[in-house]
Amino acid sequence: MQIAVLNESEDARVAITPDGAAKIKALGVELLIEKGAGEQAFFPDEEYAEHATMADRASIMKNADLIVSITPLADTDWPKIKDGAKLLAQFAPFNDKELAGRLQAAKVDALSFDMIPRTTLAQAMDILSSMASIAGYRAVLEAALRLPRYFPMMITAAGSIRPAKVLVLGAGVAGLQAIATARRLGAQVEAFDTRSAAAEEVRSLGAKFIEVEGAVEDTGAGGYAVEQSEDFLKRQREEVQNRAMKSDVIITTAQVRGRKAPLLVPATTVEKMRPGSVIVDLASSTGGNCELSEDQKTVMHNGVYIIGNSDLSAKMPQDASVLYSNNVVNFLKLLVQEGELNLDLDNEIIRGAWFTAPAPANS
Ligand code: NAD
Repeated sequence: MQIAVLNESEDARVAITPDGAAKIKALGVELLIEKGAGEQAFFPDEEYAEHATMADRASIMKNADLIVSITPLADTDWPKIKDGAKLLAQFAPFNDKELAGRLQAAKVDALSFDMIPRTTLAQAMDILSSMASIAGYRAVLEAALRLPRYFPMMITAAGSIRPAKVLVLGAGVAGLQAIATARRLGAQVEAFDTRSAAAEEVRSLGAKFIEVEGAVEDTGAGGYAVEQSEDFLKRQREEVQNRAMKSDVIITTAQVRGRKAPLLVPATTVEKMRPGSVIVDLASSTGGNCELSEDQKTVMHNGVYIIGNSDLSAKMPQDASVLYSNNVVNFLKLLVQEGELNLDLDNEIIRGAWFTAPAPANS
């Protein structure tokens, strides 16, 4: 069986590193790597050559049984792949309800990393967490570079500088990493999340948890937040506004899977912030938590920088690739048995990820 990795020129990350290539070869499969695939993450072709065959894109499309990527192959590429070949990437099918149908109609099979259940057993394959953690870290660094002030408190002969105030909205994987990073840089941090379980995690990182009464929680939502009532969101926005006026940096990470991101920072709040403040909106690709953020752009409003970027992990391509690749290898260990693909639908991790799988006969 041939497993292939593409050169994703639009993304600096690579789905499998040379170290990952060695581990995949040990599974008894042949690995094809598109030339230059790891270059932007500083993994040259020579480092792959010992464990993989370097190939061009056309021959990968024609021959590979399983293509692993970060961004899914475009619809226009589907007809070019071999009949029966499988695609493995982050398809986010919960944001595109027709995707599974289009893939099935094109006779393309797809497995999505973001559909893997977020259970303890699947943690080693959890690409969402790996990438979110990097994004949370990087969001703080981006903010610190834009902020015209220090993060830590400084006491110098020329005078004292107060520590920066950072507000984190959404304390999931990205938010918690943002809190930890901002604390390490010496900022005062407060955070908010609708899941009550987040409160203890926020406090354990030395940040203050903001309480807003009446959030809806659903323990059956697999650890994810659920949509809130308009009344709750209104009260939350008022609370955010009170805090925002005193904050130097706001990092927003609030997402509700399969829905538009909740609006937490309206334009009127941005207008009340001090000039020079910075907002980093990690939810910008799903509509944004800030009304003024534009995905993949940095804009300025009334002297406030608003960075809209949900792909900040790609700005640290080497470590992002290392973690992505480790997650891929762990998933492939489950999928590949004796050198062949074994998509066992009785396995809940495979069943979760294989979102184009045929429906069970008795359903
Ligand atoms: P996410 O990216 O879907 O959302 C980010 C955060 O935004 C979440 O913490 C969510 O509660 C919060 N949020 C949603 N609406 C909000 C609102 N109106 N106001 C404020 N915050 C809001 O989530 P995620 O970070 O990928 O994961 C969420 C949780 O899933 C984790 O914290 C954890 O409990 C669970 N999880 C479990 C595992 C595992 O067991 N393997 C792995 C990863 C995550």
